[in-house]
Amino acid sequence: REQILSVSGLKVHFPVRSSGLSGSKQVAKAVNGVSFEVLKGETLGLVGESGCGKTTLGRAIVRLVQPSKGSRIVFCGREIAELGNKEFRPLRKEMQMIFQDPFGSLNPRLTVGQMLGEVLKVHGITKGTKATSQKIDELLDRVGLNSEYASRYPHEFSGGQRQRVGIARALAVNPSFIICDEPVSALDVSIQSQIINLLKDLQRDLGLTYLFIAHDLSVVEYISDRVAVMYLGRIVEIADAGTLYANPKHPYTQALLSAIPMPELDRKHERIVLKGDLPGPLSIPEGCSFHPRCPVAMDECRRREPELLPLNDDSSHRVSCLLYQ
Ligand code: SF4
Repeated sequence: REQILSVSGLKVHFPVRSSGLSGSKQVAKAVNGVSFEVLKGETLGLVGESGCGKTTLGRAIVRLVQPSKGSRIVFCGREIAELGNKEFRPLRKEMQMIFQDPFGSLNPRLTVGQMLGEVLKVHGITKGTKATSQKIDELLDRVGLNSEYASRYPHEFSGGQRQRVGIARALAVNPSFIICDEPVSALDVSIQSQIINLLKDLQRDLGLTYLFIAHDLSVVEYISDRVAVMYLGRIVEIADAGTLYANPKHPYTQALLSAIPMPELDRKHERIVLKGDLPGPLSIPEGCSFHPRCPVAMDECRRREPELLPLNDDSSHRVSCLLYQ
């Protein structure tokens, strides 16, 4: 399958002034050399604890934050990491983002119809009031709402309905690629599956490609074709979803998986409890950055940094751990 997105050596480093008396500058390495590709029509799940850099990574791809020099992001065959805003704008329509709180950045005084109308107008999607209102009805219908919702205000919607509106807003500009940033994390479990089913239906009907970000492997299981696991700004394992869930190789993936019940895999798993907390992006440990928390760390792990290397011939399963290198 063709690639829609290819990311290599992506870094987002930024200076921060330390809070101490010296006020010296340090570098936060939120994303620290990430490479992966997304294939047309698939869903790549991206999972890791809060603070691992996954949201910054998503934002860097759509250029809401600027990637550091030397990062490469190729989208639909074009290098976009260093494009100026003007050149990037037409491509921006092709890639949309859905957020955990879709209404966080919206004007509470606009109805949903007015808000969608604005998006359609700014991007020149429809011309004239009639075509715009038809398109708004069509968008609401696509996400399982109907035209009556167009005259309602954000505060009149439940969490699940808000996310449906967030999805309608993303769809308004006819994107091919959507980054879903924890779109169901704030919702009840029963509503989560409704939204995930909606995203799957839209993917099938509209040929969409997703990068689906979550902090929990159980959320991405049902929607992902492949899954990447992130730790401290890097990908530590990436594989087809079936392989990753049945045969995780990285000790961090194994620990994350051990925390969720998976009766269908009939895997006898004991809960692996990790020591300590996730270090911050200002204090990434030397060698393998996971070594202070890794239950099977070796001496070498303190000194040598593992690379993300293929485990098999077709390189579909890649792991960054010295146990396999
Ligand atoms: Fe654990 Fe060492 Fe593998 Fe890192 S390289 S995950 S510390 S075994």
